[in-house]
Amino acid sequence: MARITLDHIRHAYGIRPSAPNDYALREVNHEWSDGGAYALLGPSGCGKTTLLNIISGLLQPSEGRILFDGEDVTDLPPEARNIAQVFQFPVIYDTMTVYDNLAFPLRNRGVAEAAVKRRVEEILEMTGLPDRANRKARGLTADQKQKISLGRGLVRNDVNAILFDEPLTVIDPHMKWQLRSQLKKLHRQFGFTMVYVTHDQTEALTFADKVVVMYDGQIVQIGTPAELFVTPRHTFVGYFIGSPGMNVLPMQIDGATAVIGGERVDLGFAPPNKTAAKMEFGIRPEFVRIGREGHPVRIDKVEDIGRHKIVRATFAGQPVAAVMPEENEVPADARIAFDPKAINIYADSWRVERG
Ligand code: ATP
Repeated sequence: MARITLDHIRHAYGIRPSAPNDYALREVNHEWSDGGAYALLGPSGCGKTTLLNIISGLLQPSEGRILFDGEDVTDLPPEARNIAQVFQFPVIYDTMTVYDNLAFPLRNRGVAEAAVKRRVEEILEMTGLPDRANRKARGLTADQKQKISLGRGLVRNDVNAILFDEPLTVIDPHMKWQLRSQLKKLHRQFGFTMVYVTHDQTEALTFADKVVVMYDGQIVQIGTPAELFVTPRHTFVGYFIGSPGMNVLPMQIDGATAVIGGERVDLGFAPPNKTAAKMEFGIRPEFVRIGREGHPVRIDKVEDIGRHKIVRATFAGQPVAAVMPEENEVPADARIAFDPKAINIYADSWRVERG
């Protein structure tokens, strides 16, 4: 398996004179370690598939280089890159049996039939298709066909990396969960480098060691689920991860105080002087306290969602969400407070480090 380096990658599908900065990928620089399980997470259109296709060689980047273990592969065609890729929809041979579909990538590389049989049987078991081995793929359901696609991606264990582009979209929810945990188990067993595209945060957070968050043609943060939750590097990561997402309030800085509307909130640290056009105060709803202490607040709505309550409120003219335990009551004269350790400050959308 390989370490993947993305060196100053930019990609434009065709620049129009009216939009000279229309890059699907604006600047991607990163190194993904050998054997890592990465989830590529971001909203529709942020460039996930473009990046995946550049790694596999299906797409040539407009600028920049791709390296596998330090070796430049930018000009190599897909078949010379030794990558397995699983797409959102099944890519299989309809006229072949399930068994032959799975055996194909191995036979193609001259693997001996006894080894092919062992491996294919393992994959049939994993995908829950052993009783369908001798059936023609044509007659199977979309869900079963996609399992074959997934199996074909996993059948070789000598590839540089396995790339998945939302492979579980067409799989039913129960099986989805099962396949995801099997993928995780296989990853632990074989240690392949795995990049898994999804726009579903739960899928990304449960599956990957590191989540790569993309936004508007850029990687905005790579981190563990806990890092993305506690210290989002960009306000987008704050909104996108978590439910509800992070509260982001416009503010001004006065020493170690955030001035939000007419309210002054103690930050506990003085952010370094910034020449940013836009300063923002970020706090996750889980760290907002609604009780008897703090600043004046107007409660707009309390949503009971079982074990928690989501309180929608207005603080200093801005909407704010708070998550509180089910048993806590919202007092009639409620006030609002923010856990100082959980406050993040953003200058032009990027997090300011506490000095
Ligand atoms: P999704 O989750 O919807 O698949 P994505 O994050 O994978 O989205 P991409 O498919 O990589 O995003 O698209 C990134 C940008 O490039 C989008 O603005 C998209 O419209 C544009 N784009 C993608 N493919 C092409 C193409 N073949 N020609 C022109 N523009 C394209």
